[in-house]
Amino acid sequence: MSTTLRRHEMFIGGEWTAGAGGDTQEIVNPATGKVIAHVPKGTEKDVDRAVAAARKAFDETWSETTPRERSERLLKLAEAIEANGEELARLESENVGKPIAPTKSEEIPPIVDCFRFFAGAARMLEGRASGEYMQGFTSILRREPIGVVGSIAPWNYPLMMAAWKLGPALAAGNTVVLKPSEWTPLTAFKLAELAADILPPGVLNVITGDGEPVGAGIVRHPGVSMVSLTGDVATGKEVARAAASTLKRVHLELGGKAPVVVFDDADLQKVVEWIKIAGYFNAGQDCTAATRVIAGPHIHEKLLGDLVPAVHGLKVGDPMSEDTEMGPLVSEEQLTRVSGFVDRARKTGSEVLTGGARIKKPGSWYEPTVVVPSGPDAEIVTKEVFGPVVTVQRFSDEEQALKWANGVEYGLAASVWTRDVGRALRMARKLQFGTVWINTHIPLVNEMPHGGYKQSGYGKDMSIYSLEEYTQIKHVMASLD
Ligand code: NAD
Repeated sequence: MSTTLRRHEMFIGGEWTAGAGGDTQEIVNPATGKVIAHVPKGTEKDVDRAVAAARKAFDETWSETTPRERSERLLKLAEAIEANGEELARLESENVGKPIAPTKSEEIPPIVDCFRFFAGAARMLEGRASGEYMQGFTSILRREPIGVVGSIAPWNYPLMMAAWKLGPALAAGNTVVLKPSEWTPLTAFKLAELAADILPPGVLNVITGDGEPVGAGIVRHPGVSMVSLTGDVATGKEVARAAASTLKRVHLELGGKAPVVVFDDADLQKVVEWIKIAGYFNAGQDCTAATRVIAGPHIHEKLLGDLVPAVHGLKVGDPMSEDTEMGPLVSEEQLTRVSGFVDRARKTGSEVLTGGARIKKPGSWYEPTVVVPSGPDAEIVTKEVFGPVVTVQRFSDEEQALKWANGVEYGLAASVWTRDVGRALRMARKLQFGTVWINTHIPLVNEMPHGGYKQSGYGKDMSIYSLEEYTQIKHVMASLD
């Protein structure tokens, strides 16, 4: 049955609480600039309380459950999310500025499926055979949960990133302290509300507040055994440094700058259709966004000729309108960041072919933009903009295309477009990215891993690989005497 979000409070040990400090922070709808909620601004005391509740739940209930019990609860949670899909989509849309139609059709179903996948996976952990690897002794492998997991989520896909973290962590028998982004906590509250009747108290705790002290407090806390962060590369480095003092396990899903390598023999119409989706979905605030087109010498001009009007024609407007294709950026800060990138690019010789300006109305709006950069090392080409900005470069041969594609510090996702199977597979092998698409860009499935190479982080989300990362392996060796 669907319900309406009732609480804007932290959820600790199965109880709703205003937070130890009593302060609140404003949550803004980026489509209007209006305040839509006041939520607790957490402190390190809230971290302590949440970790204590999670530890108690781990020791007393959750780590004692069988995979089947955990699976059944995750299936119930999936069902509750599905039943409340409309409400969750609306909350996400109001809080992040996401167009409602794709939020309902492209985000909620894979989130539901994520919990269903991990419900099944919980019962299918694999390992090597037990046996006598030394005469007179039997070796047994156990795959065990790690303990309390601190899950720190970003603002671009608040509920989906929470699902990617909670699914495997809970399936493996861990308990969780979830910290949503300080900008976008609303769906996490709703998730807690749904989980309250399904998970034992303390198995899922939701605390809100800033990176420092709440996120960093989770990372510092000796009672937290593992931290999973999805966020900026700089935050990832900070988290890895801080986690070193307690040597907790760290899982980092960080930024991206996906190349879209288009060879001359590619299906141009398909390329343009997909860039229009994958470059501007969620207003380009996507770590796998098709942001960096690297096109062959003979297709480059035709591609620009088709792409620029397609991007110009994107329907930008009220996220609640069913036919809106692009909404606002998440915040004024993000708008300043994105427009700063484009302004600096313009000043240093890049050409803006469409867009390139704020849309002057309340909220944080920016035009969908296409840029021909000044060169392969331009800031707009090499740094993550995280907005509706796609650059288009012209390469001369395959070697140069590969060099440019790999020539960034990120390594999350890439795509290659060609009808030549050998070339597609050659490129897939050489591209230094955790996901490589051939003749498409952006679809992901829960059965397959997603995660970065290079400075896009380490650890995989989704798939059985993710479940394994939320476990630790124990060797039990018994004497047969
Ligand atoms: P961010 O790094 O600013 O914040 C992410 C989270 O970390 C927030 O909850 C924040 O409060 C917290 N945080 C900030 N400082 C912290 C600290 N010192 N210690 C602990 N926690 C801290 O990122 P963002 O702006 O919210 O999200 C956008 C970024 O996320 C982009 O770079 C994007 O590429 C990345 N992202 C990556 C993936 C992926 O799968 N690799 C998916 C989505 C987003």
